[in-house]
Amino acid sequence: MTATTPGLVNAHHHLYSTLARGMPAPPKAPTTFSEILEQVWWRLDRALDLEMIRWSALLGAVEALERGTTAIIDHHSSPNAIDGSLDVIASACAEVGVRVSCCYEVTDRNGIDGAKAGLAENERFLRSGGNGYVGAHACSTLSDDTLDAVCGVAADVRAGVHIHVAEAEIDSNAGLRLENRTDDRWLLAHCVHLDRPLPGTVAHNPRSNLNNAVGYGRPARFERVVLGSDGIGSDMLAEFALAFVVQRADDVLATPELAWSWLTAGADLMPAVLDDVVTWSHDPIDPWQVAYTPGIRPVRVQVDGEIVLDDGGPTRVDSIEIRARAREEAQRLFRRMEALD
Ligand SMILES: [Zn+2]
Repeated sequence: MTATTPGLVNAHHHLYSTLARGMPAPPKAPTTFSEILEQVWWRLDRALDLEMIRWSALLGAVEALERGTTAIIDHHSSPNAIDGSLDVIASACAEVGVRVSCCYEVTDRNGIDGAKAGLAENERFLRSGGNGYVGAHACSTLSDDTLDAVCGVAADVRAGVHIHVAEAEIDSNAGLRLENRTDDRWLLAHCVHLDRPLPGTVAHNPRSNLNNAVGYGRPARFERVVLGSDGIGSDMLAEFALAFVVQRADDVLATPELAWSWLTAGADLMPAVLDDVVTWSHDPIDPWQVAYTPGIRPVRVQVDGEIVLDDGGPTRVDSIEIRARAREEAQRLFRRMEALD
């Protein structure tokens, strides 16, 4: 007996962080969320070039498919390789057979020119027919002028904005900054410390939130919630199980149905996954079974009518070669990070 479901959606990912595992430790251990950003992620993203971005996306897409995730909503940052970066990610995912929604993370942390280049990359990609959002980092690194420019481009190209919102206390006034700016198309990542409801969809990232010690934001208080990994792979059944157990730690009466509805709501943002077919190693696939059954894996995945994973492995690309090349690119990335210090 085997069970099938539509493809799963990772509704908040950073494919560029796929090469980060095993990276050299920062010179000083970060103790706050701001230090984690400054000493880990903003060292890494500055060292990325287009070739690293490509192998990072290829590996991230393979790992998604291997977990039955057929669509990724990505949030990208590479301040020294902005122009064309979204095309590189889109084509890497297409090569593997995974659907992707792209955006580039606009921020003021690399100066006005950096913000303009990021905005231009979003606009260029979306106007050329790319699927995605206008990306923005977080209110804490965006001036009002830059935030207005992000909203302006989103209105011009009729897209939503994909932004980190109140992930940690440092960004807790994001609700005030955003309340007259968001609309239903916006994708609001984290919202742990958000102090008011906002139009848009909240992407809850339980593993990342635990990893960054930012607290529990009780996502059950929001109307529209989806699940993301925030860059830590694309194992969305595991992310669901964690979303449930973290909720349970806060409320022992919680049942897995709500976290399951967050998982399946990813299809509201990427409806094409409803046509994808994932055949699982376990039957049945339902909230109580998945919450307590380890190691459930897809044995076959069909995307857009094509078998893209069979016998547990991708059919369109050589996953052994991708893993080997990604390891080489990771070493090159780590050397560049050290050279940038
Ligand atoms: Zn994120």
